[in-house]
Amino acid sequence: MVDYHIRLDGVTKTFGALRVVDNLRLDIVRGEFLSLLGPSGSGKTTILMMLAGFQDATEGTIYVDGHMINDIPSHRRNMGVVFQSYALFPHMTVAQNVAFPLKMRGVGRAEIAARVNRALDMVQLAALSERRPAQLSGGQQQRVALARALVFEPGVVLMDEPLGALDKQLREQMQLDIRELHGRLGLTIVFVTHDQSEALTMSDRIAVFNKGLIEQIDTPRMIYDHPATRFVAEFIGETN
Ligand code: ADP
Repeated sequence: MVDYHIRLDGVTKTFGALRVVDNLRLDIVRGEFLSLLGPSGSGKTTILMMLAGFQDATEGTIYVDGHMINDIPSHRRNMGVVFQSYALFPHMTVAQNVAFPLKMRGVGRAEIAARVNRALDMVQLAALSERRPAQLSGGQQQRVALARALVFEPGVVLMDEPLGALDKQLREQMQLDIRELHGRLGLTIVFVTHDQSEALTMSDRIAVFNKGLIEQIDTPRMIYDHPATRFVAEFIGETN
């Protein structure tokens, strides 16, 4: 087995003349919680889109479990994705929302029921399975989105500013919950945020981005105590 889970090997992404990700080399370790931290426009979401297979790299290669990502059929990619907007279906119950990706893949009724129950248990929402999104708090809605990402029991979860829409108290609770889930399920998590305190609290490692390049990648402690560049020092020193 390869010792890294995901490898980006010289990955570049351009949109016209704009070089959004620039010759990126990055190994994501199996089971780690890695945050991609940087200001708006630094290329973080674009990297997540390429990891999710929603966008192709202009140059370079992404490997997952040693296989080139383009060679892995989408139903075998074993990745869950969570965005800031929960994008729940308002007319469906919690359970139906979580079941939706399984139905789309033609999974059988009994397996759907079992998987939905497991996913709702993972995020402690089993008691609310018959509610509709409008009857839930923002944090609970984000938990439904998380359950939907976990319903295939993926090894990797990609998260793009998943807590950005929540108020401070809920955000802090969800930070703890996601961190706990990460440990309990042994997930590899790639977490995009522009919030330095969130990255410092949650991550095993942080990659600090500036204009499509990694300025520094290290543990929160090292990033905080020993910023490698002036950019990192100033970005980490800012308060939201
Ligand atoms: P971040 O997530 O760090 O805010 P993004 O990856 O969203 O950064 O965007 C990086 C840069 O790429 C921005 O300047 C953005 O406008 C540009 N960009 C992203 N997607 C596209 C696209 N589909 N077409 C053109 N430009 C894009």
